[in-house]
Amino acid sequence: MIIENGTVVTLSYRLTIDEKGSQVQVEQTDAQHPFVFLFGARNVLPAFEQNLSGKNAGDAFDFFLSPEEGYGKSDPQNVTEVPIDVFHDKEGKTEENLLVIGRVLAMKDQDGRTFQGTIKDVRPENVLMDFNHPLADKRLHFIGEVVDVRSATPEELQHGHVHGAGGHHH
Ligand code: ZN
Repeated sequence: MIIENGTVVTLSYRLTIDEKGSQVQVEQTDAQHPFVFLFGARNVLPAFEQNLSGKNAGDAFDFFLSPEEGYGKSDPQNVTEVPIDVFHDKEGKTEENLLVIGRVLAMKDQDGRTFQGTIKDVRPENVLMDFNHPLADKRLHFIGEVVDVRSATPEELQHGHVHGAGGHHH
């Protein structure tokens, strides 16, 4: 069976990015912890699907996604100063070792949405945080193998995601 809309695809792969000329591994999935997704359900990057379309179980792949095809360009407006009191507890203190440059923190806005931000600088009055996606501006390199391709069940197609191993249990 080939990979097309309405199939459940199991992959093992390595995702690397170029960081100052050297290859840095971002993610690795393997036979024990494969990546399973419903093809054509907009659960993954469209360009990622385009590179896999038509492949069979056992086929290898090796492709790049540009930043535009991946997680986009970083926006300087997403780098903002967050007032220091946001990080204070009820007693006006900051948890020890919380504010470390380079650390990624999950934060909520007033609407309750969660954002991941990377600490760029810690100052007396505020913390400079970068809320761009950690993979913004990066060219993504995927190398791996198609482990399995099967038809999605009617229920999976209706829900828009995979059930069972590697998917939703509900
Ligand atoms: Zn479901």
